[in-house]
Amino acid sequence: LTACDDGTDPGDSGDSGSATTSNGGQSSGKAGIGVILPDTKSSQRWSQDDPKYLKAAFEAGKVPYQIENAEGDKEQFKRLADKMLDEGAKVLIIANLDSASGKAVIEDAHSRSVPVIDYDRLTLNGGADYYVSFDNERVGELQAQTLVSCLKQKKVDNPIVAELNGSPTDNNATLFKNGYDRILDQYYNDAEFTKGPDQYVPDWDNDEGREIFSQMLKQYPKIGGVLAANDGLGNAAIEVLREKKLNGKVPVTGQDATVQGLQNILAGDQCMTVYKEIKLEADAAAKLAINLYKNVKPPVDDKLKDPESGAYVPFVKLDPEPITVKNVKAVVESGFVTAKSLCTAK
Ligand code: BGC
Repeated sequence: LTACDDGTDPGDSGDSGSATTSNGGQSSGKAGIGVILPDTKSSQRWSQDDPKYLKAAFEAGKVPYQIENAEGDKEQFKRLADKMLDEGAKVLIIANLDSASGKAVIEDAHSRSVPVIDYDRLTLNGGADYYVSFDNERVGELQAQTLVSCLKQKKVDNPIVAELNGSPTDNNATLFKNGYDRILDQYYNDAEFTKGPDQYVPDWDNDEGREIFSQMLKQYPKIGGVLAANDGLGNAAIEVLREKKLNGKVPVTGQDATVQGLQNILAGDQCMTVYKEIKLEADAAAKLAINLYKNVKPPVDDKLKDPESGAYVPFVKLDPEPITVKNVKAVVESGFVTAKSLCTAK
């Protein structure tokens, strides 16, 4: 556990005087820029990392803001948006729960001339004004490429690979899958790997992921590797493998560089995770929002074609980074997690 020995604890940046809202979110007291995040269960990021970095960016920019989480509830998502718009929000940043409910919010905002930034997840056919995310197909490619090298190290002949995909209603889950299937299909076609079970997990629900993987392993007791779309689903698979004493023998992928995912990597139970530096994503979205708040329409270099509407959305595209046991330290050094947090629990 090299990451435990060095690295000082950067700690929290301290309290900056914002208040907690009645919905449990964070606010400067006025809507100004309204942020709605999707849930608190599918990944550590939505309750911990994104709000922290967004809040810091808004406070540095001295703009009023409100950050809320819809807790996986589409109606709540809509209610929060309506409330923010009623309170005079001038910009919305949303990470949708699915495209239809995201689109309804964008339409409402637009009817009040409020621009919307799609944050991390593209709202298909939604018509958002900007999109800020990572190169999500690249995320999938990195997952598959690293799984391939972990599987090769295990020297299992023609391993069966199971795929535990994200939510079928999250466009990112489709993009991750496009990325990893592009790589894995070559190995299936060359008969180097055998294609095993392949399923989406509704709402990225970790408990459901555990059930699904448990069934997969019953049907295919010889699963040799697991392409799990994020750390939560990866951990669900690892828990099932642990019961059969197969953890560490069957490489499992992940995403988000969560504390749990990194601990699983250090324990030898997880092959890799993908580090998406949330600070960069939050800073980019906040910068756009602050400009829009001040009635400046910032130019963006890249654009992305919405596959459903065919319209082009100005796109801020960020690079993901693969993390294995060899470079966990990089995540600590960037200040995303503390060395201490990775050492305590296990
Ligand atoms: C995000 C991932 C996250 C997943 C589940 C995706 O849209 O890109 O970072 O793990 O949702 O919340």
